[in-house]
Amino acid sequence: MAANAQGVAEAPFVWHPRSAAEAWQLKATLGAEGVFTAGGTLLRTQWESGLAAMPNHLINIGEIEELHGLELDSETGTGGFGAMLTLSDIRTSPQVNTRFPLLTEAARSIAAPSIRNLATIGGNVLSMVGDSIPALLIYDPVLHWHDGSNGLKEPLSEWLSTAPVHAAWKERLLISIELTQPTMDSNTKRFVAYHKVGRRDAFTPSVVTAALSMQLDSDTRLSDVRLALGGGQTIPHRLETAELFLNGQLANKKTITEVYALILEQYEPKGDAFVPVSYRKKAAANLIASELWKAVR
Ligand SMILES: Cc1cc2nc3c(=O)[nH]c(=O)nc-3n(C[C@H](O)[C@H](O)[C@H](O)COP(=O)(O)OP(=O)(O)OC[C@H]3O[C@@H](n4cnc5c(N)ncnc54)[C@H](O)[C@@H]3O)c2cc1C
Repeated sequence: MAANAQGVAEAPFVWHPRSAAEAWQLKATLGAEGVFTAGGTLLRTQWESGLAAMPNHLINIGEIEELHGLELDSETGTGGFGAMLTLSDIRTSPQVNTRFPLLTEAARSIAAPSIRNLATIGGNVLSMVGDSIPALLIYDPVLHWHDGSNGLKEPLSEWLSTAPVHAAWKERLLISIELTQPTMDSNTKRFVAYHKVGRRDAFTPSVVTAALSMQLDSDTRLSDVRLALGGGQTIPHRLETAELFLNGQLANKKTITEVYALILEQYEPKGDAFVPVSYRKKAAANLIASELWKAVR
């Protein structure tokens, strides 16, 4: 934050662009001095904890209309979620709940209502560790960016794998997140679940956040299995090896025991001083195994 001649800190200058192009241009001009601000809930905690310095310029993206859209297309089974939609908008939409129930559940589990009224889905995704991400990963998410030219589409999983090391995305404006509902084969039922496990019941950082979706036929044979894990500072991702293993298997004791062991072996969460890696692995494996049991019951 800038200081005046007396050394007193001055508040940052706040810009209010009305279009994505204008916001992007401001960022290009201001560089590291300017920061896109959505709900500001994460930024504020970063400034207050000293994790990031308050910049000289805030670019408030809340007045850009195209960032607020919610477009659900029942024919294609797709949904376009404007980056400025708040977690409350998402949690309270019956249409979202019908089509993307894991996202509703994720929005419900994040922070408290006062934060959810400000916190946006875009900000949650761009934190890289947001609790909405495991739920989004189930729906083949694609990020739509404004990059100063024709726009850029990028699968969320691809962005998550490069974002920590390539900071170029920080120059772009996230416009929306596109999701696709899984299709259903005939004679199957779909089972979905989302869990955030913390050290308390609510209003607590996540130890493990898990989302899953799978089809079962009448013999309990599994197909289209999608598993995603995150939590704490772990960057969420799909568990592709476990998915491959489960697809085509009967959901019985042997399969569940084997996938439990596979998750313990393959999942690599980040630990911290309070919750070690071994605990997070066990919690993740237990969650997936218990949901598989529930699915066949
Ligand atoms: C008390 C409290 C509890 C919380 N609990 C949880 C929790 O349980 N789970 C959880 O996941 N999070 C939690 N959070 C973190 C935070 O609230 C969420 O991650 C929130 O969704 C961030 O959204 P925001 O709109 O406030 O982002 P902001 O703080 O405005 O921005 C976050 C980052 O994203 C960038 N950004 C935002 N939108 C765009 C865009 N469209 N294009 C380009 N860059 C953009 C900003 O520049 C910034 O770097 C909590 C925060 C607080 C204060």
